[in-house]
Amino acid sequence: MEIIHVSAECYPVAKAGGLGDVVGALPKYLQEAGHQTKVVMPMYRTKFLSNNEWEVVHKGSSNLGDYFFDYTIIKEKNNVLGFDLYLVDIYGLLDREKIYGYDDDAQRFTAFQIAVVDWLAAWMHQPDVVHVHDYHAGLIPFMMQYCYRYKQLANIPTVVTIHNAQYQGWMGWDKSTFLPPYDEWKRGMLEWNNKINPLASAIKCASKVTTVSNSYLDELRSISNGLEALFEYERGKCVGILNGIDYEVWNPVTDKYIKDDYGIDTIEEGKAKNKALLCETFGLDLNKPLFVFIGRLVGEKAADLLPAVIGDSFYNIGRRMNFLILGSGEPEVEAQLNGMNSLSQGDYSCYIGYNEALSHLMYAGADFLLMPSRVEPCGLNQMYSMRYGTVPLVRNTGGLRDTVKDIGEKEGYGILFNDASVGDICHGIWRACEMYTNKKLFQSARKQMMKIDLSWENSVKRYIDLYKSLK
Ligand code: ADP
Repeated sequence: MEIIHVSAECYPVAKAGGLGDVVGALPKYLQEAGHQTKVVMPMYRTKFLSNNEWEVVHKGSSNLGDYFFDYTIIKEKNNVLGFDLYLVDIYGLLDREKIYGYDDDAQRFTAFQIAVVDWLAAWMHQPDVVHVHDYHAGLIPFMMQYCYRYKQLANIPTVVTIHNAQYQGWMGWDKSTFLPPYDEWKRGMLEWNNKINPLASAIKCASKVTTVSNSYLDELRSISNGLEALFEYERGKCVGILNGIDYEVWNPVTDKYIKDDYGIDTIEEGKAKNKALLCETFGLDLNKPLFVFIGRLVGEKAADLLPAVIGDSFYNIGRRMNFLILGSGEPEVEAQLNGMNSLSQGDYSCYIGYNEALSHLMYAGADFLLMPSRVEPCGLNQMYSMRYGTVPLVRNTGGLRDTVKDIGEKEGYGILFNDASVGDICHGIWRACEMYTNKKLFQSARKQMMKIDLSWENSVKRYIDLYKSLK
């Protein structure tokens, strides 16, 4: 089969979170399974762009209302990622350093999607499936079916994967002129709550909808930032497929970012050396359990609760543990976490910013990974931490619920708590401290987690079955 993925992120080209990891890995494993897989994404000005060789494969022009633009599609020449990678360049719109966060994001991503569909329409043949990811590519199924210019694409099956339904790409109807002329009778297929809603449009128009875990799919019917009724109505075409993790990138035996590589048999020495490096770098106490948080400092991840959680843990449980935070996001949370450095007694530190290398070292050197997320579609961090023998301490929600088994259950290895509240999280931290003092239990949980199969193998099979069902 020939499958084309359309996404705003793809690791290592450009990544802001889990979407990038998934689009960097799933296509690689689909290709390995014998399917011709292509990824197309915007051409941001990233290091990956300047460090690789490219060839121009297509040039075209289109318009965003009365703004006419030229676009160029380039292809990476040496297949360095294990699949065909295409970038869309639109001068003035996509040639930026960051992925998101510009005032004209609506224009940028709509122009990107128009360019992709325009290019597809120029192909001499048709792909078997167009697979779009999140709202940045969510208008594509609509355009393929209802824009007069692209009618020849109407029969190609489409799949949308929802990595995060919080962000939907809402636009006022004044922006409807951005779209190429479309069948006005189908206006409803763009709309949700009197706005153009690209994510809702993808759910309505795509042949199949997938979410990145089963529990998240269940939750979306009751909490999905306004789309609850739509998920309920479209439940027949929705399916949950849990993400895997890329074993070539996330492997403590070969990880080039960590101090000492280790496997199951060398886990104790290996983790101790990586922990020692982290403690030395951040002025932490090697003898206490190390709790880390890695992620976007936003409400979804309950990052706003971290300062109170850390303060209350020290106060109520005692200064029996270290905390190390890596992340960036809401400025108030960043400021609070930075401010807490001055209160550290050699047991707290934070790094505000994005640092891929440090994240690997933290997964390797930490004892516990804290994820109190209010919403967690799948969550990759807990899976990386399990792969590196770090015990996940997570809220019982979404993909966290599907991947972490509480130590109190048969064959359990992690710690689950129910509420994103300071009290519940601190109770989890207390349980973790107790677990840490039981060395035998702690060490066997570490080893057990490292044996769990978190690879892409099973998930890739499920995607292939899904694609086949669309033929
Ligand atoms: P989300 O996509 O909602 O942000 P996920 O758990 O699915 O959450 O994926 C997060 C990914 O981003 C992981 O690979 C994590 O290691 C990485 N990440 C998040 N914040 C940072 C950061 N500040 N520095 C390095 N990596 C980060």
